[in-house]
Amino acid sequence: SDVSPTQKITLPNGKTLEAHTSLFINNKFVESIDGRRFETINPATEKPIVSIAEGTAADIDVAVDAALEAFEKVWQHVDGKERGRLLYKLTDLMMRDMEELGHLEALDTGKPIQNATGDVEDAADVLRYYAGWADKIHGKVIETSHEKFCYTRHEPIGVVGQIIPWNYPISMLSWKLGPALACGNTIVLKPAEQTPLSALKTAALIREAGFPPGVVNIVPGFGPIAGAAIARHMKITKVAFTGSTTVGKNILKAAADSNLKKVTLELGGKSPNIIFADADLEQAIKWAHNGVFSNTGQNCCAGSRVYVQDTIYDKFLEQYKEFVLSKKIGSQYEPDVYQGPLISKVQFDRIMSYIQAGKDEGANLVLGGDRHGTEGYFVQPTIFTDVNESMKIMQEEIFGPVVAIARFKTVEEVIEKAHLTKYGLAAAVFTKDVTRAIKISNALKAGSVWVNCYNQTDYNAPFGGFKESGHGRELGKYALQNYTEVKTVQINLDMKR
Ligand code: NAD
Repeated sequence: SDVSPTQKITLPNGKTLEAHTSLFINNKFVESIDGRRFETINPATEKPIVSIAEGTAADIDVAVDAALEAFEKVWQHVDGKERGRLLYKLTDLMMRDMEELGHLEALDTGKPIQNATGDVEDAADVLRYYAGWADKIHGKVIETSHEKFCYTRHEPIGVVGQIIPWNYPISMLSWKLGPALACGNTIVLKPAEQTPLSALKTAALIREAGFPPGVVNIVPGFGPIAGAAIARHMKITKVAFTGSTTVGKNILKAAADSNLKKVTLELGGKSPNIIFADADLEQAIKWAHNGVFSNTGQNCCAGSRVYVQDTIYDKFLEQYKEFVLSKKIGSQYEPDVYQGPLISKVQFDRIMSYIQAGKDEGANLVLGGDRHGTEGYFVQPTIFTDVNESMKIMQEEIFGPVVAIARFKTVEEVIEKAHLTKYGLAAAVFTKDVTRAIKISNALKAGSVWVNCYNQTDYNAPFGGFKESGHGRELGKYALQNYTEVKTVQINLDMKR
């Protein structure tokens, strides 16, 4: 039975729910070894929601031992059909408790409740998709010569460590758990310290679904302590990380310095969104707005550099400003809210310092630029124009509601400018000319290119970055490659040779 009880959370509508707030190891909720706790904050009110048990390196050790024992004694002997059945059961339970998961996600992240609930549904879709893969993972027979029989096996890797961020907590959890479990690995996952609640609720559902103890372990804690312990752990054979490029590089170094564990990284971006004069202007404005302001700009794909062809530039800017101003800012439960708060005081200060850098470097602030209201980490939607590629706001990932809009004349010029950052996560192009759209999509150095739309991710289509935006691909069949070792078996059919 659980060592640590749940804590009560009262919602703004007066209803209450019970939240799990401790480490989940071996299918039990337990306190951390040294008993430390930290507070998770509602970013719309700046007030604590509940306290959370803080895992440290010693707790990661316990979780890894549980995961290794579960892998060796149980999970690697469970067939794909059963792994899939358990994953289907988990998705059913998530849909049953969608409302509760949505509230936890909304409170922890500050997202409007309808967006948070939508994220839960998306996460269930991802897990259901990988449930379907669990019994379809197999190797090949390879014809080498008549004297040999050669085949491959796609085997699970073992214990995998997964470190996720706070911008889409439940979605990131599903992108990580789905393929790892379908392929037969066991897991130690660390949610972001800002947003542990939906992961811990999912832990309870994992247990209810019937996953054997130790298959999934969830250890909340801080990055440099619990996260770093995962990255350097000698018994973890693969680590998957989503977050900043700076930390991604640390993970890669720690993997190299420890046991050369396999690494996949989904990192930052500074994505260009290119709008040609022949585009459907109304649609381009709608998508260019969604591209950078959805999730309060806290989106690795954010189309934060918008390039508009000079003949429509003035018209675009005028209508874009109006569109931005038509969207409401507010907290999770206010009706019709589009933009919530930033996740934390740290991120609020970071975004305000980028806005200051934009002003200092001579960009033209045409909208926003200040805090919104007096409570919560709200920042006004902010537009800069008259920017150039050497400015900080054109080079660095801001991760807030801040967009830079630039002019261009020719295809060659805009492609060259689009490539002048270290990132290569996403890009978009708006045009009615199909040939141009295809040629530009081929030319752009980005893991995802959208034509006449933005922010489109589907559970069956791969997602990941070129350049310093990452290593490997998540989602779709591609993600399965991250979670299997390929073994080649050669059998001699002619003993005399
Ligand atoms: P971060 O990269 O520090 O945090 C992401 C995750 O990594 C969290 O779980 C965190 O605890 C963990 N982590 C932090 N330091 C670690 C370490 N040394 N070893 C192992 N794990 C560690 O991101 P942040 O500080 O929360 O945000 C900073 C910036 O990162 C943002 O402004 C944004 O630009 C970027 N970011 C990107 C994404 C994304 O989806 N690509 C998500 C979150 C943040």
